Amino acid sequence: MIPANEALERLKKGNKHFVARAQGNVLEAEAARDLALPQQQEPFAIILGCSDARVPAEIVFDQGPGDLFVIRVAGNIVAPSQLGSIEFAASRFGTRLVIVLGHTLCGAVDAALSAMRNPQEESSRSLRTIVGFIRPAIENLLNDPAQTDEDELYRQAVRANVAASVKHVMRDSEILTRLITEDGLKVVGAEYNLATGEVHFFDEHVEG
Ligand SMILES: [Zn+2]
Repeated sequence: MIPANEALERLKKGNKHFVARAQGNVLEAEAARDLALPQQQEPFAIILGCSDARVPAEIVFDQGPGDLFVIRVAGNIVAPSQLGSIEFAASRFGTRLVIVLGHTLCGAVDAALSAMRNPQEESSRSLRTIVGFIRPAIENLLNDPAQTDEDELYRQAVRANVAASVKHVMRDSEILTRLITEDGLKVVGAEYNLATGEVHFFDEHVEG
């Protein structure tokens, strides 16, 4: 079992390799690890990320097959099937780090903002479900009269949505709550920057 802090260091190192490669820094990119094809599944981290095509978790963390247990859904929301997937991996494989990975300019968050402003807009029931998960996280921001800068509102909405998903993962599952209090499971929010390729982790204080 790989402790949460060690898992987090691996992800940070992997993201550095990815950024180096994206910037054409060949020397550092070559330090990236070789790929293997493991027969056993022993993921050291669980990633709940957005489906956005620009944010493939294994690539942005420079990880290979077997390394990450990845759940992707538009807007990195926590619906029952996402929660169940995290529970499955954490209890079955002993994975002790969960990352909720949002990203700048998330289209799902944008869609939620737009749906809240234009409730008469047509959308399917399934899409409305996703918006319904994001809405409570960003409602306060949208109703805050001090919030006048549109770009800033969007930026904050993405982060608020990540924070809300972190809270849901930590609170909505008895299994996960127990693993957090008794067994070193950590849940950390993070944001991938589409412009730089860098992942910013919101909680740097992961221990043991
Ligand atoms: Zn997104």
